[in-house]
Amino acid sequence: MTTRRRVGVLALQGDFREHLAALRACEVEGVPVRLAADLEPVDALILPGGESTTMARLMEPELKTAIRERTAAGMPVMGTCAGMILMARDVQDGRADQEPLKLMDMTVRRNAYGRQIDSFEAEVESAAIGGAGPAVFIRAPQVTERATDVRELASHAGQPVAVKQGNRLALAFHPELTPDRRWHQYFLSFDGESR
Ligand code: GLN
Repeated sequence: MTTRRRVGVLALQGDFREHLAALRACEVEGVPVRLAADLEPVDALILPGGESTTMARLMEPELKTAIRERTAAGMPVMGTCAGMILMARDVQDGRADQEPLKLMDMTVRRNAYGRQIDSFEAEVESAAIGGAGPAVFIRAPQVTERATDVRELASHAGQPVAVKQGNRLALAFHPELTPDRRWHQYFLSFDGESR
């Protein structure tokens, strides 16, 4: 198992502070990423929860390009909730000007759970974290289409809620909002060559 030394967290909007705290709890240095240059010293990246339309708008084009290039070269990336939306190739119910990063071969639907149950907590089980753990869903997206190598690591009510494609991990929920650090630990175990 490789331990990452510096993990970037996209810090333009959303709950990046919670991810930085989670990394500290894992004894890993977290680096806020706002500009393309911030990505240079990091060897993995987290895209946080928040509002994907806002984050997509605030990212400078150079940062989008740098994230795409580094990811293609093997940098591990984890997206949570809005971060999952940013990672998708296509977004349903997005805004017209919302261009995702297209890091994973999947389509996701924003705010897919509807008003009645737009936020909830559930136990989600996965071999990736060695059992069941708490998962907080807030206006969560759903994966509606995915390539065969986008593997389901966990599901809830018949829907995939954790998916992995090589060095890329996307979670529909917020592991940063619970004290359980196993999803972060799992992500930190990715090595740059696992693409
Ligand atoms: N619905 C939000 C979006 O579209 C995501 C919500 C979240 O990250 N909790 O970006």
